[in-house]
Order: sequence, then structure tokens, then C-alpha cells
Amino acid sequence: MKARIQENVALAPLTTFGIGGPARYFVDAPSENVVLSTIQFAKDQNLSVFVLGGGSNLLVADHGFPGLVMKIGLTGIDWETHRDKAVVRAGAGEEWDRLVGLCVDRDLAGVECLSGIPGSVGGTPVQNVGAYGQEVSEVLVSVRAYDRQTDSIVELSREDCRFTYRSSLFNTIAKDRYIVLQVTYSLTKHGNPAIRYPDVQREFESRVGYPLLGEVRAAVRRIRARKAMLLVEGDPDCRSAGSFFKNPIVTEQQFAELQVVAGPAVPRYPAGPGRVKTAAAWLIEHAGFSKGYSLGPAALSSKHTLALVNKGGATAEDILRLAREIRGRVETKFGFRLVPEPVFLGFDIPLLIQEGWVNAS
Ligand SMILES: Cc1cc2nc3c(=O)[nH]c(=O)nc-3n(C[C@H](O)[C@H](O)[C@H](O)COP(=O)(O)OP(=O)(O)OC[C@H]3O[C@@H](n4cnc5c(N)ncnc54)[C@H](O)[C@@H]3O)c2cc1C
Repeated sequence: MKARIQENVALAPLTTFGIGGPARYFVDAPSENVVLSTIQFAKDQNLSVFVLGGGSNLLVADHGFPGLVMKIGLTGIDWETHRDKAVVRAGAGEEWDRLVGLCVDRDLAGVECLSGIPGSVGGTPVQNVGAYGQEVSEVLVSVRAYDRQTDSIVELSREDCRFTYRSSLFNTIAKDRYIVLQVTYSLTKHGNPAIRYPDVQREFESRVGYPLLGEVRAAVRRIRARKAMLLVEGDPDCRSAGSFFKNPIVTEQQFAELQVVAGPAVPRYPAGPGRVKTAAAWLIEHAGFSKGYSLGPAALSSKHTLALVNKGGATAEDILRLAREIRGRVETKFGFRLVPEPVFLGFDIPLLIQEGWVNAS
């Protein structure tokens, strides 16, 4: 199948923020062949390529993107069962939450706390999606990807992917190099659900024995809905990219310094040897921002201070203005800079680097 190249396609409706201008060229890629022929077209035309999944972790510039946007639509889910494990291979264009639902229905443990995260299967390894004590890196076996550097299809193991908190090979040292085509996960048959986070634990306080995977999935979706972290049709509070800032991970020493300024109540979670994770939402609130705070049509969600939302008609510049104000006040009060979680597309890169929104590398 050949790629059907479209021109000047609006990107805003393809993102959860609902913001941004058009793509100069746009391709829906439902197969590996279309991915390969699109890359060839982009090479011939000397165009930069952006790979789009569900658009749920993305802020597109108001003037759009002058290159080619390829939306990954590869579907298909294969199941293989072993003794106590099930191996599932899913096309990168499959909807992630649908896959989680299917796993839970089959009584397969390992992704139940990742229920309700929007976006595609192909997006999950990019920032090592995680929530409520689970991360996709715990169950990911391998990633089938097109390597734009060597012009070949490769199979990357979990180790190759170099997962850490909200980070992987794909969004750090090999940014833009790989196009994820398929992801393989290994799940535990009839396994116990992960009930590691206080929010989830509270849901089952009065429950005797382990809850079922389906109950945990439902609880996680309930918790997410309360925080506007579940996409609900027509709810302007979830016109966002989820968390706009990452939870900071600091050394014990940095955390001790933070406690001196912020007081003993500042949240701390374990984050590996010698490292502590703290809560960006707490820092934002204690820097003086409350839920619903707005700057024109850009606002903090009325349910969660970590989500910046488009109240209706906001531009990317409106969102950045609000993000600058939040980051600036947190930095002044607590002495360190919050790092954004979404990907920025179509912006003036030197300006983003100068303002510290992206790294120079
Ligand atoms: C309401 C809400 C709640 C959220 N909650 C969470 C949460 O709890 N935890 C969490 O981790 N995230 C969360 N997110 C962020 C987002 O859902 C995830 O990061 C998701 O995995 C992004 O996938 P996507 O397909 O939408 O990627 P996109 O937004 O389309 O793209 C994001 C990045 O991934 C790249 N990418 C996407 N697909 C591919 C592919 N096939 N190959 C190569 N690169 C690709 C893009 O190029 C881009 O750099 C939330 C977002 C929203 C809107």
C-alpha cells in the first residue's frame, strides 16, 4: 500500500489539548509498508518527520509544523500463553487503554494500574508511561521499531530501551531515531493486582482479601476521573496533556535542602538508591497556585494542579505563558526548576532551549 499524502491538515483535533496549527504534510500510516514509503517520500522532499500517536502528550505550536506528520495506525493484537505468563504483541496504533481492558478481562496482571492513560501502544515506551506505582517498563519485553538511522527494522529489548522515570532511549539519546511499530508485553496469568499507592490502597481499605484486577482497573479509572486525568467526552477540564510537569527526582541531599525551605510536609517517595521523588503538584500548590487558577483561556485544571488545560480557545502561547509563570514561581520559592512532560512540536527550538523547556542535546 502506498502512502496517501495530505496537505495542510489541522493538528489541534488530533491532540488532547485541542491546540495547534496544521501540518504541512500528513499521512495516516496503517501498515509498515506505508511507514516505509512515507519515510522515503520525506527523504526525497527533504522534510522533517514527526511521529504522532494519540496526541495525548503533545503541545503543537500555533503556526503548526512545516514538515510531515505521520500518524501511526498499525493495529493487531496477538496473544501467546505460557505456563504462568501471557505474551501480548500489540500494534503501535492500538489504543493503550483498550489493550489494558483486554488484559484485565483475560485476568492478566501487570498493567491494571495503567488503566485510563490515553494515547497509543506505540507511545507507551517513549516516556515509559506510569501511574499508581506501575510503569510499562516492568512488563515490556521488546519493541519492534523502524530505525531511521540504519534504514532497517529492529527488535529492541527492554534493556536496549534504557527505561527510567518518564524516560527512555526514545525521548533522550535516540530521540526521533526510532518509529515504534509493535510492542511486546509479558503479563502474569491470574496475578495479584499492584496495590502500591495510597490512593489505590484507600479504595480497598474495607476489602477483605485481594481485589480482582477488574476492581482495581475500575478504582484507578474512578481516581483518575476525580483528578481530570481520564478523558471524558465534553469535560473541558481534561482538555490537557495530563501532567504538564514531571515529578522531580532529586538526591537525598537536594531533598534535605528542599525540606529546609518547604518544611517537613513536602512529599517524598522512594525513587531508587539515594534518590527521592517529590510531588510537582504539591510544589505548585505551595508556590501559591490553586486548582482552577487561570491566565486567560489557559488554566490549571479545577481538579488537579499538575494539569494545564485549554479552557476553550487557548493558544499554545497561552499555555506556555501560564507554564512560565508556574515554573518561575516554583523556582523562586523552592530553588529548582520543574521539567515539562509533554513534547513540543513546531516551536522555535533555539527559543525553547533558551527558555529551558527542552535540552540542547
Ligand atoms: C488526561 C491525561 C492523563 C494522562 N495520564 C498519564 C499518566 O498517568 N502517566 C503517563 O505516563 N502519561 C500520562 N499522560 C500522557 C500520555 O497519555 C502518555 O504519555 C501517552 O503514552 C502518550 O501516547 P500518545 O500515543 O498519545 O503519544 P503522542 O502524544 O502522540 O506523542 C508523544 C511522543 O511520543 C512519540 N510517539 C508516539 N507514538 C510513537 C511511535 N509509534 N513511535 C515513535 N514515537 C512515537 C511522539 O513522536 C512524541 O514524541 C496523560 C495524558 C492525558 C491527556
